[in-house]
Formats: sequence, structure tokens, C-alpha cells
Amino acid sequence: MPTKIKALLSTAAEGQTVTVQGWVRTFRANRFIALNDGSTLGNLQCVVDFENFDENILKNISTGAALRITGNYVESQGKGQTTEIQVEDIHVYGIADPDTYPIQPKKHSFEFLREKAHLRVRTATFSAVMRVRAALSFGVHQFFQGEGFHYVNTPIITGSDAEGAGEMFRVSALDPKNPALNEAGEVNFQEDFFGKETHLTVSGQLEAETYAMGLGEVYTFGPTFRAENSNTTRHLAEFWMIEPEMAFFDLDDNMDLAEKFIKSVLRYVLENCQEDLAFLDERFAKEESSKPKLERSEMGLLEKIKFVVENEFKRVSYTEAIDILRNSKPNKKKKFNYPIDEWGADLQSEHERFLVEKHFKTPVILFDYPAKIKAFYMRLNEDGKTVRAMDILFPGIGEIVGGSQREERLDVLQERIKAMGIEEEELWWYLDLRKFGTAPHSGFGLGFERLVLFATGMGNIRDVIPFPRTPQNAAF
Ligand code: ATP
Ligand code: MN
Repeated sequence: MPTKIKALLSTAAEGQTVTVQGWVRTFRANRFIALNDGSTLGNLQCVVDFENFDENILKNISTGAALRITGNYVESQGKGQTTEIQVEDIHVYGIADPDTYPIQPKKHSFEFLREKAHLRVRTATFSAVMRVRAALSFGVHQFFQGEGFHYVNTPIITGSDAEGAGEMFRVSALDPKNPALNEAGEVNFQEDFFGKETHLTVSGQLEAETYAMGLGEVYTFGPTFRAENSNTTRHLAEFWMIEPEMAFFDLDDNMDLAEKFIKSVLRYVLENCQEDLAFLDERFAKEESSKPKLERSEMGLLEKIKFVVENEFKRVSYTEAIDILRNSKPNKKKKFNYPIDEWGADLQSEHERFLVEKHFKTPVILFDYPAKIKAFYMRLNEDGKTVRAMDILFPGIGEIVGGSQREERLDVLQERIKAMGIEEEELWWYLDLRKFGTAPHSGFGLGFERLVLFATGMGNIRDVIPFPRTPQNAAF
């Protein structure tokens, strides 16, 4: 059985015969192969005595080629690595023609690598990011399972358009060239696959709520879709969301859980991804040092992660936040694109970043937002104008979590649905929860890629998901 390089690198090198398989990162001087198999960041040096090998084999070894190598695992004679393989046998599974293989051993821009998304995981940076991503997702399950939550899978195709009207992708099996029409000459969705209009989900929350009202504490972790034309470094059209939903939790319980959850998964990668994080920390430092002084992050990557794990998130009401923003320097000097003058204004990312990065310098949980700017299902406060919403804002990221205590009172909920112009029939099953055994409950949604962005120090959300979907781009 071939050995994984990760396992090998933590084994004593005593001249034993081993077999490894992987892809060539570099081949120097017709003698030194740096082999990587994805199990770990490090490459394994394989030393070839070219006199023992056929010219025809050696000429097939170049960056990107897939090899199986057998040899003796020994202490390294050279600098730069402590162990190496003295190669006895090489099998070339597949060559990679250097004239056409795009991933060469030099610095490629992330823009260039996005166009080679099928090959970019063979670079050190992307393999590190994807290993951290994989570990984070394990950390997510470990946390919730440890807390007694049940993992539920909510539908990806949804028949209710109450959640995010206008920014959903349509799911249809009608022939676009010749769709069934009704008498008014409009597309007749009764003839469509599901007999009604359907879309890709923007959130599993409403369905998760139904399961919380029976299983108690549940979470989803699945893909969600938004057809919004947000061409930013923090928005994808397809992203993964983690949505816990808890019966008998009020907003304070909800905030406590969200904070504990984020700290737990970050601690998990600090403990389990040390090598990859050290590498990403260095990459981050290099990138920051190339920025103008004022735009540089005050902390390194590892420092930022530890800071979040070790410090309490600052909890601030929307009303307090508006006061701070209204009196802030950038607001007075008219530096915000959206000046803040009135209570009720929706916060833009420039405001969120000011609060987190300049004012509090720590993750912030904003709560009790104006009802007007939040969704219909958030619980109305006694004041009649704010709702029990909470957003968690992170340095460099902005909003990472959006959540709330849900409205459990049937009459209040019906009132809100009406005020927002939503058809009650659309939500009959959701309203049923308020008719049969209703109870206070809460939940939140965390965008998984925003968490990966934070944990890896990458600058663009397109670089923390294997195949990003964004406006005008669904290649691969
Ligand atoms: P934003 O204001 O940043 O667009 P939102 O208010 O639309 O976020 P929610 O609908 O509350 O976000 O979704 C919950 C979480 O999902 C957000 O806190 C964020 O982490 C993540 N998220 C939302 N939209 C996207 C997106 N287009 N791409 C990636 N993650 C997203
Ligand atoms: Mn949004």
C-alpha cells in the first residue's frame, strides 16, 4: 500500500522501503523531485540518480505529472528538508506537457488561477485553503453534534417564494422555446414539473423551524442560492449556509450560541490545521505589506483568529450603533457613501466595517433592528418598532451571521405578513406552527464561505470555494 506523505513525514527515516504517489511540484537538475499528494502542505523530496534511469522516463517528469515512486526513506543530506526518498523505481501515471500545463512553479495571480479552477488546487495556497475549509466543515458538525443538535436536510428546490422574492433562481422543466401558455398568454406553470412555480432556496430557515418544533435543536448545512447581482468580494450566487434553529431559545440564548459556535470552529482549525494556517499567515503578511499603510490589517492572520477566539464579542443595539455612526468622524466629514442621519437607516457595509474595524476593534453583535428593514418572521419588541434581530459583524468581512428570535405569536405574525404584502396562503404550513404548540424559538444563518474567508485570510470569496458561481460565471 502506498503511504500518504503526511504520514510519512511524521515517521522516522530509517532507510525503509516506501511507496508514495502524487503530483510533481518541481523537478530540479534532473535529480530532485518535489512530490505532493494533497495530504499535507509539505512536499516530499525524491532524489533520482539519473544514471540509473532511462532517459525516456526522466523526460516525462515535469511539474504536474502524476507519479508513483518507490525507494528508501532516509535522512536528507541536503538543506531545506529533513528527510527524502532515494528513488529506486518510478512509474509515470500521467505526464503534464510543460508547454501547455498552466500551473508552473512561479507566482500566478488569483485572477489567472480562477480561470484554471480545475487545476488550482495543485498550488500550495489553494490546497491549504481547501484543507482548512474541509476542517472547518468537520468542526461545524462536531460542534453541533456535541451540543445535541440534529442535522436536518432542508429542500433545495422550494415552492414558497416568500423568503426572498426577486432574487431567486427559477427551477423549471418547461421548454424555454415553447413553454405552455395560459389563456392570458403567460407561461402556465401548472404545466411545469411541479405544477407550480419553483425556485432554488435562498435559506432553509423556514423548513428548519418546523423541525426545531419537534426535534428541539436542529441545524442545516447546505447550499443556498441568490440571484442578486452583487459583484463583491463577499457575495456568491451559490454558497453554503449553516442554519441552526432552536426551540425555547430567546435572542440572548441565540447570541450566546452563535458566539460559542464561531469560537469553537475557529479553535478547531487552530488546533488541527497548524501547518496550513502558518503558511496562510505568512501569505497574508506578505499581501498586507504590499498594501498602503492605512489599508493594512493591524493584526496578522493567526493573531486575528486568536483574538476572536479569546475575546468577548461586543453586543450593541442598533439604536446605540446609529448614535455612534451619526457622531462619527467619517459621517461628519461626509466620507460615507450613505450618510447616516436618521434612525431607521439600513446599515451598509461601510458602516458595519467602521463599527468593527475602527470603533470597537472587535467582533460586534448588533441587535434590535428596526422592523422595517428586517424580515417578517422576526419577533416584534414591546416598542412596536424594533425586532429581535441580530447580525454578527467581523473585521474584514462585515456580516458573517444574520439571525433572530422568531415571531411565535400567530396574530402578530399575520399582521406582519400582511404589512409586507405577502400572501398568507403561501405560508399556511409556517403559520400552522403558531397554531399548534407554538413556543419561543430562535436561529441564525452563517455563510460558510465568509467563515472560510476569515479563517484563511483570503481576500476574495471566489477563492475559498472550489468552483465559484458569480454573475456571468458558471464555468466548470
Ligand atoms: P449581506 O448583507 O452581506 O448581503 P444578507 O443580509 O443578505 O448579507 P442573510 O440573508 O442574513 O445575509 O444570510 C445569512 C448569512 O449568509 C450572511 O450573514 C452571510 O454570512 C451569508 N451570505 C449572505 N449572502 C451571501 C452571498 N451572496 N454569498 C455568500 N454568503 C452570503
Ligand atoms: Mn445580501
